[in-house]
Amino acid sequence: MTPMGTIKATIHVPARTGRGFAVDRGDLVRITDLQGAQPVDFWAFNRDNVTEYLSCEHTKPSIERLYPRRGDAAYTNHRRPIVRMLEDNSPGQHDMQFAACDRYRYLELGAKLPHASCTDNLHLALDGLDIRVGFTPQPWNLFTNFFLNPDGSFTVKAPETKPGDNIILRAEMDAYIIVSACPQDMNATCGGVPTDIQVEVGRPA
Ligand SMILES: [Zn+2]
Repeated sequence: MTPMGTIKATIHVPARTGRGFAVDRGDLVRITDLQGAQPVDFWAFNRDNVTEYLSCEHTKPSIERLYPRRGDAAYTNHRRPIVRMLEDNSPGQHDMQFAACDRYRYLELGAKLPHASCTDNLHLALDGLDIRVGFTPQPWNLFTNFFLNPDGSFTVKAPETKPGDNIILRAEMDAYIIVSACPQDMNATCGGVPTDIQVEVGRPA
């Protein structure tokens, strides 16, 4: 297990909400699913130029997989690593196929508005960092149980993560990171009940 040395910050993220924070190159970010079966929408932006951001569609050709696993980086739209997965203490399901949930998705599923969404959580967190990004990049959907079937269809099941499952990422550049504890309660994505997550930011031991 990658040793987390000095912990610089511990960030509790209540169910259905998001948080944003800055990291320095080399920082470790541990993201923990506290109660299990909770997906985390994850975004990262270059701190010096937020038009460079983690891009799922640019990551996939670089790693030649549908999503990163331990040792792989996630890449920006400038095809540079922005975070790398050093440890994966989870079933290893980290989808890169889906847009973030948004108010329109909840309307489509028959919810009554207002309904919290990862898209709104992203922009609220960016506002809190005094950053304006006029679009919503596709998030990296951590702990999301996407399964591609041989006929090209896919299935999203409840996550298989157990309480305390976690991943450790290393920042490969100075970045802003946003996480959202997905509020999806209209299908199996969050196992039915959205729950809290925790983020720790530290330096290597
Ligand atoms: Zn969501």
